[in-house]
Amino acid sequence: MRKKDVKPKVKKESTKIPTHVFINGSRYNIVRAWVIKNDKGEALDGDVSFHEKKIRLAHGLTKAELEETFLHEYIHAFNYEFGLYNFITPEVDEVLTHQLAKELLKSFKIKYL
Ligand SMILES: [Zn+2]
Repeated sequence: MRKKDVKPKVKKESTKIPTHVFINGSRYNIVRAWVIKNDKGEALDGDVSFHEKKIRLAHGLTKAELEETFLHEYIHAFNYEFGLYNFITPEVDEVLTHQLAKELLKSFKIKYL
C-alpha cells in the first residue's frame, strides 16, 4: 500500500477505566452495558449494585461523560462501603455524589482516568 493510501490515524479518545476497584476492602467489578435503566425505566449513564458489587457504565458516552460517570458511581459505592447511608438520605447522597464527582474532576488528576 502506498503511503498516500494509508488512512490518517485518528487519535482515539481513550480512558483507563479499570476492570475493578477495591473500596474499603470490597472488590467492585466495572462493566460496560448497552442499556442501563432505573426502576422507573429511565435511561442512565451508569449505576452501581452494592449487592453484586458491580459498577455499570453505558456504552456511547464521551470520554468526559465516562470519567464523570465512573467517579460518580465510585463515590456512591464509597458512601455505601463506609456506612454513610446510615446517616444521609438517598437525596442527600445523590447531591453530594454529583457535586463531589464534578469538583474532583476539575481539581485533581485521578490515577485511573
Ligand atoms: Zn447517582
